[in-house]
Amino acid sequence: MYKNGELYNDEEFGKIVIKPWQLLTNKQHLRDVVRDYCIQSGFLVVVLKASNLRWTVKCSASNCEWRLHASRLPNGVTWEIKSIQNMEHTCSGLEVKNPMVSTKWATRVLLEDIRANNDIPAKSLNQLLWQRYGVQMSASTLYRMRSKALRDSNGGHDILYAQLPDYCEMVRSTNLGSSAFYAWTPQDHIDMIPQFLSIFISFKGCIDGLLAGYRSFIGVDGAHLKGNYGGVLLSTVALDANNELFPFAWAIVSVEDTDNWNLFVWHLKNFLKDSGRGDEWCIISDRQKGIDAALTELWPKA
Ligand SMILES: [Zn+2]
Repeated sequence: MYKNGELYNDEEFGKIVIKPWQLLTNKQHLRDVVRDYCIQSGFLVVVLKASNLRWTVKCSASNCEWRLHASRLPNGVTWEIKSIQNMEHTCSGLEVKNPMVSTKWATRVLLEDIRANNDIPAKSLNQLLWQRYGVQMSASTLYRMRSKALRDSNGGHDILYAQLPDYCEMVRSTNLGSSAFYAWTPQDHIDMIPQFLSIFISFKGCIDGLLAGYRSFIGVDGAHLKGNYGGVLLSTVALDANNELFPFAWAIVSVEDTDNWNLFVWHLKNFLKDSGRGDEWCIISDRQKGIDAALTELWPKA
């Protein structure tokens, strides 16, 4: 069935090439690839025939006979470009904004960039559109598109946050000796929705590993989290015999301050105190944003 076909290769970026015998994973993929190609090459197609079996489009310019015909393969899913007639357009392309450039299209082609940087400005999004497709969109449209894309892609996370208590309980009951603690805002009123404050996790396997082969020398630090919910990741690492890092406990908190470092150091000390090595650990840190105060207060021997 596929002996003449060649699977369309989704190039990262660069010039989009479509040709006969290319196979597309399904009809939506075919339409997406043709749309990307048209936008990049600056012309518009109109659909001549569309059914469950065939799809034919032609250049919208009346003096141009560019035409693409595709059909569904017998497997019922894959589509194949059967022919492209008059591959060189005889029209000079669109002189106005391409109506194929839609918000939905922009969301698809920019989604990964938005996920990588939730605050990416419209100017940068336009630079990407320009480099890849030679088109631009209005800043207000791009900002609206960005907000919607983030809402859609982060939509499930609030549900996952709500599952953290169960997760902690499961870690403690199935992984005996592990630490898993979470905190919520106190619920003063029945209508108040509790909000996530922090979580601290360290697995028994990690602490066993630490005690089996590591010196009593650990590093602690905080790192800002990207993404819709922000927050700070506090973590602690040990060095193995090759001086490679071994993370063994981490927490997520709202900000890096003395209260949150107190919480982290308190859990960490409790976790290590039963290790048989006492509490004379050597701790390296940047002594910033409350680490120093927390260590002095809670772990003076460190
Ligand atoms: Zn044309």
